[in-house]
Amino acid sequence: MTFFGKSTALYDEWEDEGVSPFFPVIETNRDHHVTTAKHGDLLMFGSCDYLGLSQHPTLKQAAIDAIREFGTNTYGAQLLCGRTRLHDGIERTLTTLSGKESAILFPSGMAANQAVISTMAGDEDVILCDRTAHISIYMGSWLSGAELRTFPHNNVKKLETLLRKEKDKRRRVILVDGLYSADGDFAPLKEITELAQEHNAQVVVDEAHSFGAIGPNGLGVADHFGVLDKIDALVGTMSKALGSVGGFVLTNQETERQLRYLAPSYTSSRGSAPGVAAASLASLELITEQGAQLRKQLDDNVKHIIDGLTGAGLNLMRTTSHIVPVQIGDEHKTVAVSNWLMDHGIFVGTFVHPHVPAGEGRLRIGVTSTHTQNECALLVERLTEAKNKFSL
Ligand code: PMP
Repeated sequence: MTFFGKSTALYDEWEDEGVSPFFPVIETNRDHHVTTAKHGDLLMFGSCDYLGLSQHPTLKQAAIDAIREFGTNTYGAQLLCGRTRLHDGIERTLTTLSGKESAILFPSGMAANQAVISTMAGDEDVILCDRTAHISIYMGSWLSGAELRTFPHNNVKKLETLLRKEKDKRRRVILVDGLYSADGDFAPLKEITELAQEHNAQVVVDEAHSFGAIGPNGLGVADHFGVLDKIDALVGTMSKALGSVGGFVLTNQETERQLRYLAPSYTSSRGSAPGVAAASLASLELITEQGAQLRKQLDDNVKHIIDGLTGAGLNLMRTTSHIVPVQIGDEHKTVAVSNWLMDHGIFVGTFVHPHVPAGEGRLRIGVTSTHTQNECALLVERLTEAKNKFSL
């Protein structure tokens, strides 16, 4: 089978051999312990639930209450059928937290990226995009009709060259992830925003993996570098550190109004279901009060794991965050190590082509603030065994 010319042959082979680690069916899930029919109990180290909030009783209760009050769904697309005070509350809270002029909530981060990029760039413009950026950023770029130029990952010099080359374009829009989802490193947003100002370009940053988990106020990598006010549009998602579902854009009022009235993935798609919106709102309130403490616990766990795995001699690529890739290389070997870990009670993410470049297969550990010290130690122990067994 092919999709845009890419083949599923490798995935078909692993399914046929019964070793595919993809799309596992989770039978039960409690506090990052999941069970599957094949492997039984697994310690979840492959999630994006960085603050453990998807299991938090406050979020669960908020979702239950909202379903009782509003039902399981809204009446239709928000433009025509409205939205609940929960949706409105999320946008107001995000605006207050970030200090941006406006916030707008989408059904997902994917929808938010598609909408904001295709609103901020059109066919007279050029998009300058980090080559490693998330696929939803590419989807937004293709939809926009703008010329798309990419620069090597985090290469600010090459970005500067492109900004100079493209100086006659109506607009130059720079697109980056704040925290890269398969590599675990940050975008150099200080340098990028300086360049953008110098060249009168705009910056869109996808903080999907960093919002809630990074920065003194938990607002992401732009917050970490103190440049949030220089970002033209910040895209975030509720589906990772915030433990819920839904994407959002924090931007100026003019862009927000264009998105609200014109972006198809907002006007013509269903908003978040009330239970989901209630969980998102509860999550924002919770991180406002307890975020600093949760981030401190997360940082402690990250340090424990990075120190342990580096000490064992594993290659963690460029990570400096709660996303800890373990580089393996060969796709078959990556899947074999992943299976061995599951046989030994540990679940980690498995990243292979086309989701990372060919020959750059890796395991992806998602650290959570609620992992205990013992669980972190067990992960390090198992991966150290795997290193020896598979000569990693
Ligand atoms: N941006 C990045 C960097 C992501 O990793 C993801 C999800 N994997 C998204 C956007 C999309 O977010 P959502 O799951 O809310 O659609």
